[in-house]
Amino acid sequence: MQFELNLSIEELEKRTDKDYLIRKPMLKEDAVEYTSLSEGDKKALAHLVKAANLANIIYMKQDNELNLPFRDYLNEEIKKGNKQAELTKILFNAQLGIIGIDSESKQVILLKGAKESDGKAFYPADLTKNELHNILKEMLKNGEKEEVQKILNQRTIVKRSGSKLKAFDYTEEFKEEFNKIADELEQASNTSTNKDFNEYLNLQAKALRENDPMLDAYADKKWATLQDTPLEFTISREQYADLLTGSVMEDEELKNLLEENNITPISKDSIGIRVGIVNKKGTQDLLKVKKYLPLMAENMPLKDKYEQNISSDEDNLQTMADVDIVSLRGDEGSYRGGITIAQNLPNNDKLSLTIGGGRRNIYHRQVRTSNSPEAIERRKKRLNATLNPELHKYYNPEADHWFTIGHENVHSLGPKSGTEALGKYKNIIEENKADMGSLALLDCLTEAGVYTEEEKKQILVTFGANCFLKAKPELSQAHRVRTVMQAYFFIKEKTITVSNDGIISIDIEKMTKTAMKMLTEIVEVQLSQDFKKGEDFVNKYFQWTDEINAVSNKLKQTDKSLNGMIETPLADLITKE
Ligand SMILES: [Zn+2]
Repeated sequence: MQFELNLSIEELEKRTDKDYLIRKPMLKEDAVEYTSLSEGDKKALAHLVKAANLANIIYMKQDNELNLPFRDYLNEEIKKGNKQAELTKILFNAQLGIIGIDSESKQVILLKGAKESDGKAFYPADLTKNELHNILKEMLKNGEKEEVQKILNQRTIVKRSGSKLKAFDYTEEFKEEFNKIADELEQASNTSTNKDFNEYLNLQAKALRENDPMLDAYADKKWATLQDTPLEFTISREQYADLLTGSVMEDEELKNLLEENNITPISKDSIGIRVGIVNKKGTQDLLKVKKYLPLMAENMPLKDKYEQNISSDEDNLQTMADVDIVSLRGDEGSYRGGITIAQNLPNNDKLSLTIGGGRRNIYHRQVRTSNSPEAIERRKKRLNATLNPELHKYYNPEADHWFTIGHENVHSLGPKSGTEALGKYKNIIEENKADMGSLALLDCLTEAGVYTEEEKKQILVTFGANCFLKAKPELSQAHRVRTVMQAYFFIKEKTITVSNDGIISIDIEKMTKTAMKMLTEIVEVQLSQDFKKGEDFVNKYFQWTDEINAVSNKLKQTDKSLNGMIETPLADLITKE
């Protein structure tokens, strides 16, 4: 296939320069975490890393139908000595696709003429929102309920079939890749030393081979119980990429038809894989917080209006581990404006939660801890430019990790069903809930002795200082939109103030109260199960004001980075043939 490259040599040279393209190294070749593993686990790890590499293929296929042909074209051009193709390939590998978003929320388009579609490659590229709605209405009126249910399900790829649409289960669509992953998982289970982990690997392999969602549920249920395993392996199925499925809630007639037919639209799963080694010390620290989950549930606003996700006894259905990351692939490893530092899975739409399955939180050590001299220098510059000097003593990168622990735990609290009704606003609101819960519940956690008063101040100030972005995000960037909403809310409540020249001050005493106020509004919106209420809530607070812009300008002056990429030295070494 013939393609035309979109970015000029000059632009490519800039964007791949080390100041503009941040390198995030995962676990190193000589890491003691790896060398101290048993031989059996080392062998298993190599198989898991091979399995992970296949996630890149699946993810690229789900993301854009031109990704793989374009990649092949780049490889051919590089062989011919095409410098422009070589530089383009660096960015392609970093964002894992033709179109990504940079840290200033600008689209980076590597192929001339390429356009992003809301339905990514989960749906036909030329299918518009209105056409989707109209076809689904026709099909429902025609009694094709089952097919519509499959189309609006998280595990199918949708294609045209005459004037209608047809859904294909992931196990059919990605049969080749799924089977290869399953082979690697089974081989890993032959040498890995942990019985529970091996049981999970075999359940997961089975789920990949057969078209039966319950098999995924059994695998997820087992996965969520894993606590004391040497290795970590996850197939993540996140739903941030698909912006089309949720749109069916915007058409009143279709929404009613779906309700009559008992169909809940569920956004498509993007496939990612994470491989790592469980860090014992970091995990112990996390487990200290775990026993306070019931206390946190008790302090959630409007707690009598919904069923809590966690049981109130001590042995609640939540495991957690701090992990040294060996490899992140597919959705996990594509660097588009950032990369995730922790995850709480499975998400609410997954079947395992309906058969008594719990959740598992994984924290990514190599993604969060950046103590390289460059990273420290970047942090110092950022603080000097944007934070009131009196507050510098409270700024602590480790406090950001404590905040994240709260965030992930709060994902397990609050209303558990019905939030699909919020459509494209669902993720923004859920992420907001997790953040505000993490702050609002600091009072009870500090009282219980989890954090000292000093540590609480560090969490609050570090949050406030990090609450500003380099550029206004797109509505599709759930994680970033919620940050702007929070900055606006805290400024409106006069808890955070910004001087004319973009310096942030924080009223530490008011922080948790303001967070509780926002959290209460969020839980009300989630309980309403009303798309319009969700939309109004987001529009009310997603405002890019002069104050926010003043900080943003300062940030842009101190930080040139636009793109990022992960490096996986250990993973690359142990899979070298
Ligand atoms: Zn989250």
